[in-house]
Amino acid sequence: MSSISSSLIKPEIQQLSPYQVPDKVYPIKLDAMENPYSLDVSFLEQWSQVLKTASLNRYPDPSAQTLKQQIRTTFAIPNTQELLLGNGSDELIQMLIVALNQPKTTLIAVEPSFVMYRLIAQWMGMSYQGIPLQMPTFSLDMPALIKTLETHQPTLLFLAYPNNPTGNLFSDQDIATLLEINSGLIVIDEAYGPFTDHSYLSQLPNYSNLLIMRTLSKLGLAGLRLGFLAGSALWLEQINKVRLPYNINILTQITANFALQHYTTFQDQAQKIRQHRTALCQQLTQMGIKVWPSQANFLMFSLPNAVSIYQELKKQGILIKCLHGSHPLLENCLRVTIGTPEENGVFVRTLQTLLS
Ligand SMILES: *Cc1c(COP(=O)(O)O)cnc(C)c1O
Repeated sequence: MSSISSSLIKPEIQQLSPYQVPDKVYPIKLDAMENPYSLDVSFLEQWSQVLKTASLNRYPDPSAQTLKQQIRTTFAIPNTQELLLGNGSDELIQMLIVALNQPKTTLIAVEPSFVMYRLIAQWMGMSYQGIPLQMPTFSLDMPALIKTLETHQPTLLFLAYPNNPTGNLFSDQDIATLLEINSGLIVIDEAYGPFTDHSYLSQLPNYSNLLIMRTLSKLGLAGLRLGFLAGSALWLEQINKVRLPYNINILTQITANFALQHYTTFQDQAQKIRQHRTALCQQLTQMGIKVWPSQANFLMFSLPNAVSIYQELKKQGILIKCLHGSHPLLENCLRVTIGTPEENGVFVRTLQTLLS
């Protein structure tokens, strides 16, 4: 690094390694919780018709009113609650941190969980506390969480529900306790909402310190980059002030609006993924593999020689996620996204061969 850049770039940024994305194309890609299904021809035809109406020479609707109204309808957002849209929910995490990062504020997340909470806090120089989950089921460590919430005030707490990478839902009683302590803002990240029957969206009117974050990425629209925050205007009007103007481009606005008008298409795909999750879980269990129950579109499992199995799968064109080394509780853990039945079949058969 030149001496100019090494003196100008913040030391906390120089210490980071870039966010890892796969280096090449894999025939079977089961690492990133993408929906494996394509959309049928009539959907694509109708979609291209509405896309043609986009005025590319104009800036998009800055507040995306039409899309917001469609999101309200599709997800039954309570009328009393506001919405804020982000270029993926990653951007919403960043907006929250920009708006709430004060010298005395601490961001709290459980670990292992979604790494972007900690990463963006690091970029922004925000104080961060990670509270380990409790084995054997990756449940919330309530005494540790309550103590941390009480000693570090004010706080911004992120909970992924279901959690990534462990796939479980936390206890509703524990979450109620955290909401009732009411010492800060709690963001429940429901990125995997399409794959579970549980959601806190309807609870929003009951808690003034709760925001719900959702994304269309895992539903089947990862290429669009659209996430939303739902909750009280008291929070969202403030956080909206740090939103970059026109953050939701016109193609995303039109496409997301169209896709949500055809929400049942995506719900049907999610339903299939849930069925194949059950099947894959049974197959892995029958092979004697430890699999954690999952309410998301992936399974976490562990094997004695996880890293070499991961490498071997990769050599054979199957990319999953190696979690080993990312957190002490994830020793020998791997994560596989639920693919099509064919992809799941190739994965299982290859794994079987490697293990025998
Ligand atoms: C994938 C994921 C996200 C990121 O969603 P984008 O909208 O694609 O940025 C957020 N939270 C969790 C828990 C995730 O697993």
